Amino acid sequence: MALTGLQIYKLLPKTNCKKCGFPTCLAFAMALAQKKIALDKCPDVSAEAKSALDSESAPPIMKVTLGAGERTLGVGEETELFRHGRRFENPCGIGVAVKDNDPNLDSLLKQAASLNFTRVGQNIRAELLCVRNASGNAAAFKSAVDKAAKTDRILILETENPEAMKAAAAGVKAGKPLCYGATAQNWQAMAAVAKELGLPLGVKGKGIDELSDLTQKIKGAGVSEMFIDPCSPSPRAMLSDLTQIRRLALKKGERSLGYPAIVSPGGDGTLMEMATSAMCVAKYAGIALVSAPEKWKALALMALRQNIYTDPQKPIQVEAKVYEIGDVKPDSPVLLTTNFSLTYFTVEGEVEASRVPSYILVTDTEGMSVLTAFAADKMTPESVTKSLKASGLEGKLKHKKIIIPGYVAVMSGTLQEECGWEVLVGPREASAIPSYLKTVWK
Ligand code: SF4
Repeated sequence: MALTGLQIYKLLPKTNCKKCGFPTCLAFAMALAQKKIALDKCPDVSAEAKSALDSESAPPIMKVTLGAGERTLGVGEETELFRHGRRFENPCGIGVAVKDNDPNLDSLLKQAASLNFTRVGQNIRAELLCVRNASGNAAAFKSAVDKAAKTDRILILETENPEAMKAAAAGVKAGKPLCYGATAQNWQAMAAVAKELGLPLGVKGKGIDELSDLTQKIKGAGVSEMFIDPCSPSPRAMLSDLTQIRRLALKKGERSLGYPAIVSPGGDGTLMEMATSAMCVAKYAGIALVSAPEKWKALALMALRQNIYTDPQKPIQVEAKVYEIGDVKPDSPVLLTTNFSLTYFTVEGEVEASRVPSYILVTDTEGMSVLTAFAADKMTPESVTKSLKASGLEGKLKHKKIIIPGYVAVMSGTLQEECGWEVLVGPREASAIPSYLKTVWK
C-alpha cells in the first residue's frame, strides 16, 4: 500500500529548508504522496529514507519498454482507474498475431507491417508483431521469427517451449522482444531464458491467484520486467480479470500484479474480436493482440486508443501559425480557425477537398474548439487581431479579407474594427467550406 503524506513526512529531514520549492517538509510530503513531485527534489533526504521511499513511490504498475532504437514501446506506469482521474500514461500497444505454420505467413507479415496511419497530425500504427509457435516445431518458429524481424515492428515471441524460445529469441534479442509463454509448468526454464538474454517475460496464469504466485517466483528468479496474461476464457471474464488486476495493483498496492497486462481477444478478425479488443484498450490492457485485421478495423481500434490516451486536461493541439494549403497565391483566401487538432484537421481536410489553395490562420485557443474558445474568451477580436498581426499575412496578400467560422459571426463587426481587415462570415460547419470557397469566395 502506498505511504500516506504523514508517513512520508516522518522519513523526511523535517528542517523546512524550502530547497525543494515547498514551504515545509509536510507540504512536500503531501505532494509526494499524490505523486505530484519526485523525491529527488529534496536534496537532503537520507539514504535510508530514500530507499524506503523509492520503493513506495515507484508506480503501482511497472513501466516495461519493448523494442530498441527508434522502435520502442513503453507501457504500464498507470496510476488511474479512470482516465478523468488524471490521465492514462502510456498507450496500450496493439500487436498483430501470426502463426508460424500459416501458409500465408509472408503476406500476413506484410499486411501487419502496413498498419500505419496519420490521424489528427499524429502517426499511429500497430507497433507489435507476435509470432505464435502454433506448429510446435522449434525450427519453424525460429524461421518465422527471423522473417518477422525483417519488418519494422517490435516482436513478441509466443511459445511455451523454453528451448524453442531460446533458439528464436537469441537471434533477435538486440531488438528487445517480449518472450511470451511462461506458465506454472515451465516458469523456471522460461525465467532462465529471459534472464540469460536480458529480455522481459510474458507470464500466463490460469486466473489472478496463479498469476500473482508466478510473478513472485519469477521475480525471485531474477526477472523483473514482466507482462501478465490472466488467460481469460471469455470477453466478460477478460473485462473482469483486467479490472480486478488494475484495482488490486492500484488500490491494494499488490506488487505481484503491478505489471502491464497482455491479452489476446481471439476471434480471427471478426467484428467481435475488434469489439473485445476495443474493450481491452479501454480497460486495461498493456498490449492487445489481434489477428491481422483489415485496415479499416485496425484504424478504428487505433483511433479509439488515440482518443483514450490523451490527457483530458490538455486537448491535442496544433501549432498556432499560418498553414499554406496548396499552391497559395496573393489572392488566396484566409480562413481562421483554432488550434484544437480535431477542429484544425477537419478544416484542413475540407480546404484540401475544395482544391482552392488557401491560408489557414490558426489562433491559439489553448486547444479549444471554436464555440468553446469563444465562450471562454480564448477567441476574441483582440486575440485574433494579435494572431493576424504576427502572421505576416499582410505582406503575402494583395487583399485584406479574413473568413471567420460562422459560429463566431457575432464578433465580425468588432473584429473588423479591431484588425482593419474585411471580415467575411464563413460557414458554421466545416463540411460547407468547399462550396463556400468555390461560390461565395469567388
Ligand atoms: Fe524538507 Fe527536503 Fe523540502 Fe528541505 S528540501 S523543506 S528538507 S522536504
